[in-house]
Amino acid sequence: MIIAIDGPAASGKGTLARRVAGHFGLACLDTGLLYRAVARDVLARGGSLEDEAEAAAVARTIDPATLSDPSLRLPGVGEAASVVARISAVRAALLDLQRDFARQEPGAVLDGRDIGTVVCPNADVKIFITAEAPVRARRRYEELRQRGEPVTFEGVLDVILRRDERDSSRADAPMRPADDAILLDTSNLDIEAAFDAAVGLIKRKIGQ
Ligand code: C5P
Repeated sequence: MIIAIDGPAASGKGTLARRVAGHFGLACLDTGLLYRAVARDVLARGGSLEDEAEAAAVARTIDPATLSDPSLRLPGVGEAASVVARISAVRAALLDLQRDFARQEPGAVLDGRDIGTVVCPNADVKIFITAEAPVRARRRYEELRQRGEPVTFEGVLDVILRRDERDSSRADAPMRPADDAILLDTSNLDIEAAFDAAVGLIKRKIGQ
C-alpha cells in the first residue's frame, strides 16, 4: 500500500505521515529532506543554489541514510531547498530513489509536494493537507520560539507565504492536489484530531 501525503510548508504533513505510517505498519519518507540535503550540500561546497548543473550533480549523490542530520530541519534550509527544488534536473535525480522507497513491502507513506501528482501517481490513497497560512505560521512560530529561536510571527508568516508561492508556481511538479486527492483542512484541528481524520479517510478509501 502506498499513501501519498502532500501539502504546503508547515502544514503538519510530516508529523501526520510518521503517525499514519506507524499506525499502518508502513515505512515513511519525508521527501522534503531530500531537497533540503541537496541545498545543504550545495552550500557546504560553497556553490550557488541557482547553479543547475552543480545542484543536479549534488542531487545524484544524496544518500538517504544521511537524512537524520538535525540541521536539515532549520528554517533557512527549507527556504534554500525550495530554490533547488525548482531545478528539473534535481527533481529527476531524486525520482528513482523516491519510487524505489515507495515500492517496498508492505508499503510506504511518502510526504512532500508532488507525491500524488508525479512521484506516485498510482498511490492507493492521496491526501492533500491544507491549513490557513496564518494558522500554519502560528504553529511554526510557537515551535521555533519554544526552541529558543529569535523569530517573529510576521517573519515566519512571510517565509511561509514566499515558500508556498515558489512551490506552487514552479514549472516542474508544482505543489498541487492530485485530481483524486482527498483534501484535509487542519485549520481547526489539532494533531490528534488531524491524525484521527486521516486514519478514517484512509480506512474508508482502502475499504477497511
Ligand atoms: O517539506 P519541506 O518543507 O521539508 O520541503 C522543503 C522544500 O523542498 C519545499 O519547500 C519544496 O520546495 C521542496 N520539496 C519539493 N517536492 C517534494 C518535497 C519537498 O519540491 N516532494
